[in-house]
Amino acid sequence: MSARSDSASRSRTAARREPDAAFVLDVRSLGRRAGTQREVRRTLTTADRIGLDLAAIPQGAEVDLDLRLQAVSEGVLVTGSATGPVEGECSRCLESFTDEVEIQLTELFAYPDSVTEQTTEDDEVYRMLDDTIDLEPVVVDAVGLALPLQPLCTPDCAGLCPECGVRTASVGPDHAHEILDPRWAGLANFATESPGNGTPESGAAVPDSENRSAEPASNRTKEK
Ligand SMILES: [Zn+2]
Ligand SMILES: [Zn+2]
Repeated sequence: MSARSDSASRSRTAARREPDAAFVLDVRSLGRRAGTQREVRRTLTTADRIGLDLAAIPQGAEVDLDLRLQAVSEGVLVTGSATGPVEGECSRCLESFTDEVEIQLTELFAYPDSVTEQTTEDDEVYRMLDDTIDLEPVVVDAVGLALPLQPLCTPDCAGLCPECGVRTASVGPDHAHEILDPRWAGLANFATESPGNGTPESGAAVPDSENRSAEPASNRTKEK
């Protein structure tokens, strides 16, 4: 009975922390005897977007933590993985895509007053705070390193057509533009402009056969 109420009060304490920061783990129950370890599996919902400009774990996404917490002489050693969905924008064709990122963690959180805590700077080794460890900065750093600065929708994304800007994947590999010799550019303009002049208003009145034969050569050029 007493054990039950004890665990109930502990879980109440844990419940009070969790909604604030899902990445915060209460490690009091682990104790400080070196070698003691505990598995932690948890799915949390991100309060913020985590990642880079073109690819990130979105806000409100579910991240799976699969961790082992181990008491060591200087603190708590956290090893394991975090996995979450990624939303990104292809740096070549600008299409959005989804993916998944998995990061591996190995991080020491130093006990207050440990030698490590006293001989290192805050930004060198993470610290425990009130029997909790905050994994958020660890995950943010690791995800930032794991995601590509220039993500691609597919590894061989062909990007955009340099001539017209259309997404190459959507028009197929045969998509091409006739590259005109600049010396003929003037003629090409002439061919585009002339059909308007060459098609008489009275064309409708001319019999079909005669109309076909009277069709100016420049018209056929344009249709190609
Ligand atoms: Zn792409
Ligand atoms: Zn094109």
